[in-house]
Amino acid sequence: MTWSERDQAVIWHPFTQMKLAAPPIPIVRGEGVYLIDEAGNRYLDAVSSWWVNLHGHAHPYIAQKVSEQLHTLEHVIFAGFTHPQAITLAERLLKLLPGHQQKLFYSDNGSTAVEVGMKMAFQYWHNQARPRTRIIALENAYHGDTFGAMSASARNTFTAAFAPMLFEVDFIPVPTPDNHEAVKKRLTELVDAQQHAAFLFEPLVQGSGGMIMYEAAYLDELLTICKAGNVLAIADEVMTGFGRTGKLFACDHLQQKPDIMCLSKGLTGGTMAFGATSCTQQIYDAFLSDDRTKTFFHGHSYTGNPLACTAALASLDLVEQPDFAANLSRISEQHRQFQSSISTMPYVRDCRCTGTIMALEFDTDSTSSYFSNIRDALYEYFLEKKIICRPLGNIIYLIPPYCITNEELDYLYRTIESALDHFLSKVKLQS
Ligand SMILES: *Cc1c(COP(=O)(O)O)cnc(C)c1O
Repeated sequence: MTWSERDQAVIWHPFTQMKLAAPPIPIVRGEGVYLIDEAGNRYLDAVSSWWVNLHGHAHPYIAQKVSEQLHTLEHVIFAGFTHPQAITLAERLLKLLPGHQQKLFYSDNGSTAVEVGMKMAFQYWHNQARPRTRIIALENAYHGDTFGAMSASARNTFTAAFAPMLFEVDFIPVPTPDNHEAVKKRLTELVDAQQHAAFLFEPLVQGSGGMIMYEAAYLDELLTICKAGNVLAIADEVMTGFGRTGKLFACDHLQQKPDIMCLSKGLTGGTMAFGATSCTQQIYDAFLSDDRTKTFFHGHSYTGNPLACTAALASLDLVEQPDFAANLSRISEQHRQFQSSISTMPYVRDCRCTGTIMALEFDTDSTSSYFSNIRDALYEYFLEKKIICRPLGNIIYLIPPYCITNEELDYLYRTIESALDHFLSKVKLQS
């Protein structure tokens, strides 16, 4: 039996309709921006394997550090015990985070990083005997797949089966030049009610919602309103963190700073599952008490795992190399050049960039739904060209590992152009 057949006999894949999906492609090796199958086919990973990979696959430096750690200490219970990797990582990360982030809480992935952020916010108020039990979030949001994270995410096909079990959240529109005054007004009304523990948002770019981009200046206005009304600001930087928006964190583009930040995806450079939630001293202090019921009762078996911490530390070493910042500017600049050349092409509804993230919305007559046919056709088209893209409906986006070369970027741009030329013109002719 092939790997593919063996997979299909035993494995249930995420976000996959197992009855309809094509057999998965077995990957046996990774090298820089490429993922390599058994036959030696090299696939260009244009989406950093679900937005996690920063420095390229199987990076030798991270591999060496993790392998050394594996022979030293693989894991230790993180209550009552600690270890140098967890401490050093917290020290280094907190220095890099924007604003006054003073404490770091470890978990396992992006969803748990967000859960921890929301639980910190709810209990912050609970511990002060001033309970606030609601959250404000942005429309189109995606914060993960656990129940709390789902509750704060857009309600759609993905969450429909669980809708009755999700807690109520007040959603406000993403601010745009046309609506930002109205959004401010709506947020002010909500904040004035003094019932909301926090405002949770993906800063500057809403990933799964369709790479929706919005201005830092508008977000600053919203955060100013939250601050004036004592509503905590939780920045979900799970996707935007570690350089994606052109600065180390999306919140580095803001004047106002969040009270809580959620990190995952790029945290280990894409090496392994890990999450972290940081907070200000003010939040932390609300849990300090002689009264044990004020404890933050949250943890995971693998909290603070030394291998994950080591991968994150090694990734930070690479982040601090001069070519890291140089690559961010280089990729951002390449995207901008492509954007200006493509924006006027037929069938391009919108091409937008924020730092190293580029998204192109195809002008189809269907809506931007995940299930529109164009999505699968585009996916196949790019796969045939040995490019891994996962379109969100009619939106193709690039979020590459930072080691991608200009030539490789060029190959991606040319393939997007050829997809426009050959494929979409056909679709239009047929309809
Ligand atoms: C991916 C993502 C999450 C969830 O992270 P997982 O590790 O997949 O649980 C949360 N928030 C944002 C913004 C994300 O992009």
